[in-house]
Amino acid sequence: MDQRIIRVGLGSDTHRLVPGRPFLLGGVELPSDRGEWGHSDGDVLTHAVIDAILGAAGLGDIGALFPPSEAAWKDADSIELLRIAFGLVKEAGWQLINLDCVVTCESPKILPYRDRIQSSLAQVLEIPGMAIFVKGKTNEGLGAVGTGQAVEALAVCLLEKGPREPDRPIGMRKQTPF
Ligand SMILES: [Zn+2]
Repeated sequence: MDQRIIRVGLGSDTHRLVPGRPFLLGGVELPSDRGEWGHSDGDVLTHAVIDAILGAAGLGDIGALFPPSEAAWKDADSIELLRIAFGLVKEAGWQLINLDCVVTCESPKILPYRDRIQSSLAQVLEIPGMAIFVKGKTNEGLGAVGTGQAVEALAVCLLEKGPREPDRPIGMRKQTPF
């Protein structure tokens, strides 16, 4: 291939919050009296990231790759699912440029755990932590998220494939002046 291609991907996920489950974001457990209900471990952020990278690569979505009807994915470690999904993305020749995410919930606060969450995702996705950003928001008390019954995550990513400018690692390309 002699042409560089870049593609954007978007992922979104929502999980119900229930007592007695861990609250997981990007493979990091946050202290909380409730956690995500789900067939897998319920890691809402990791699920959104999986959908973003699969969507950008044109490889389907998380439901098709890891059907909830399959017992194999019961209580699955979502970080392992991300590793599998990213393996397919890499096999198809794609590299991740960056990932930007929003997690919306009333509690717990995301900020104290942001660095750990970013590092956890960066390790699997093989990019520097600075190429991943995770923002925490609340829903101002509105709707299921606002009353603490659910948590939502959004993720957008950029993938690229094709020849790169020589001697320039990903994310360090010449800046185009605006
Ligand atoms: Zn999910």
